[in-house]
Amino acid sequence: MDAVDFVTNWRACRSRRRGTRARLVALAILGSVTKASPASESSTHVETAAAIQFRSDVTVELVRSNASDADVLFAARVSTQGEQSLAAAKDENLDTSRSKGLINYLMRDRHGSPFEHNSLTFYVQAPIFVFREFMRHRIASYNEESGRYRELNAVFYVPGHDRNLVQVGKPGAYEFHPGSAEQTRLAVAEAERIATEAYASYRRMLEAGIAREVARIVLPLSIYSSMYVTVNARSLMNFLSLRTKRESSHFPSYPQREIEMCAEKMEEHFAALMPLTYEAFNENGRVAP
Ligand SMILES: Cc1cc2nc3c(=O)[nH]c(=O)nc-3n(C[C@H](O)[C@H](O)[C@H](O)COP(=O)(O)OP(=O)(O)OC[C@H]3O[C@@H](n4cnc5c(N)ncnc54)[C@H](O)[C@@H]3O)c2cc1C
Repeated sequence: MDAVDFVTNWRACRSRRRGTRARLVALAILGSVTKASPASESSTHVETAAAIQFRSDVTVELVRSNASDADVLFAARVSTQGEQSLAAAKDENLDTSRSKGLINYLMRDRHGSPFEHNSLTFYVQAPIFVFREFMRHRIASYNEESGRYRELNAVFYVPGHDRNLVQVGKPGAYEFHPGSAEQTRLAVAEAERIATEAYASYRRMLEAGIAREVARIVLPLSIYSSMYVTVNARSLMNFLSLRTKRESSHFPSYPQREIEMCAEKMEEHFAALMPLTYEAFNENGRVAP
């Protein structure tokens, strides 16, 4: 008999999580013949079951932060107030035209360093093709789960039904439009089929004793990973300017939708923590200082 048999049972179960679709698929993998009973000489199957999950969303959680508009003010005012600027910024009512004016001036004239004295740490779950784009942003700190030291979870991305599928226009400025019903069905079916087959292949290799770092080579970029990413407001604004599409931007960008989904969630936290800085960022065309 074959060393490994696998049986895939589709068990569609739609759950709505944060407005997006997640589907669970039970994948039962019958392991290889691992031992022969000396008494009976018969072989036994070791059965393991792993659930494949398909997601169309991303997770972004703010897990730590030390970031406020006052952090920008004390850093900027050291130039005129010296060591007194820290205490002065703590006492100051931030909702003053003076504070707003200074932050707006720094943003407009691109005095960027006062926006660096703060920190935001996010926990992110997204497919690896998103992480590949994410990590091009070098002025951030990253730590990601390891495919060498742990078995990767069977969680894969499939485009949601609201994900535009058809690109028109020129490179660098593509527009994306909804796909037909047939294109949508095909994109989802192919993404799910490949993920299911690839994960079964991964499991077969693990069950055969092959190292995780080798077995993972069959897994597609749609598999989810997780990481912590730490940025300051200046590096976050650079990220947001490039990874969100806004008509109001002085330099419009055309990011892939899936990294934009991460950026939008990060932007919400930034806006809540540093409202004056966020306002100035938008009023000055979303150009990172
Ligand atoms: C829509 C879009 C399409 C893209 N397409 C491609 C593509 O086809 N191929 C590809 O390879 N990449 C592509 N990228 C990635 C892009 O080229 C950048 O690597 C990415 O956006 C990170 O930008 P950054 O360098 O400004 O960010 P960070 O690395 O975070 O740097 C922030 C800023 O710090 C300064 N800086 C950082 N490192 C250096 C350095 N070594 N020297 C000098 N200054 C530095 C720069 O001012 C920089 O803007 C794309 C990005 C976007 C948004």
